Amino acid sequence: MIDREKIEKAIRLFLEGIGEDPDREGLRETPQRVARMWEEFEKLRSFDMKLFEEFGTYNEMVLVKDIKFYSLCEHHLLPFFGSVHIAYIPDGVICGLSKLVRTVRSFSLRPQVQERLTEEIADFLERELKPKGVGIVVEAEHLCISMRGAMSPGHLTVTSALRGVFLKDMKTREEFLKLVKSP
Ligand code: ZN
Repeated sequence: MIDREKIEKAIRLFLEGIGEDPDREGLRETPQRVARMWEEFEKLRSFDMKLFEEFGTYNEMVLVKDIKFYSLCEHHLLPFFGSVHIAYIPDGVICGLSKLVRTVRSFSLRPQVQERLTEEIADFLERELKPKGVGIVVEAEHLCISMRGAMSPGHLTVTSALRGVFLKDMKTREEFLKLVKSP
């Protein structure tokens, strides 16, 4: 649950901590705005995973490429963002494609690390769809790397998670990775 009061107090203190005057015009409403934003994130995270069983005869790979996402690295609370590619091979159950987009949003709108985001999406889809296999690739730019430290704007960090036949069957894995790479 989001505690607005705590967020507001913390942001005000944070602004003081970096030497800003939290009462100047531009910053006066910032603590409330940040609290409202996190409330919004919380709402956007929840959704109903509706499944369809009547498409039980489709047993080929379902691949949705380039699902855009925005998340916050939990080490610096700076955004990391990019694309998620999701593939699964159904075993009698499929979901609406928009639910895959909602799944990505649900796990990205929180403090995260890219590796865990990748795993959580794979585990969730494996649990919900009970498919023959799941493959996830996440490509992201991290502002904590682009803006500071290594100062490497435009870099891409790539992570992947493979489950079921994507792990066991080399042909399935190769097909998935080839489809992800093709324009
Ligand atoms: Zn970071």
